[in-house]
Amino acid sequence: MEKLFGSDDRFLIQRLRSELETAGIPYLMKNEYVAGAVGELPWQDVQQQVWLLDESWSQQAGKLVHTLQEDDRNSGEKTDWQCQQCGEANEGEFAICWQCQAPKPESDCPQCSPLPTP
Ligand SMILES: [Zn+2]
Repeated sequence: MEKLFGSDDRFLIQRLRSELETAGIPYLMKNEYVAGAVGELPWQDVQQQVWLLDESWSQQAGKLVHTLQEDDRNSGEKTDWQCQQCGEANEGEFAICWQCQAPKPESDCPQCSPLPTP
């Protein structure tokens, strides 16, 4: 057996499991039911772990993990943005300004999306 991935992020683990199931990769969970013990044990001992039953899947499963981690990182980049029309601050998940319905600028980077010159 080979340890594929470990995390205390249950969402990430859950997504990885469904990816593995979709791909037909056999795996085993460790520490799935110890959440109640958090605080009593070092975190390494309570994080959920996904183990590969068959190491021949190692490369393919590793790619799945990598893709998931990239996704996870990208979804964390939804930073707040400022409306270029009215200057209202909006949360990153909104695609339009809640105040004036102006669309979110394409880039979150202020340097890349200068205010329109009148
Ligand atoms: Zn606005």
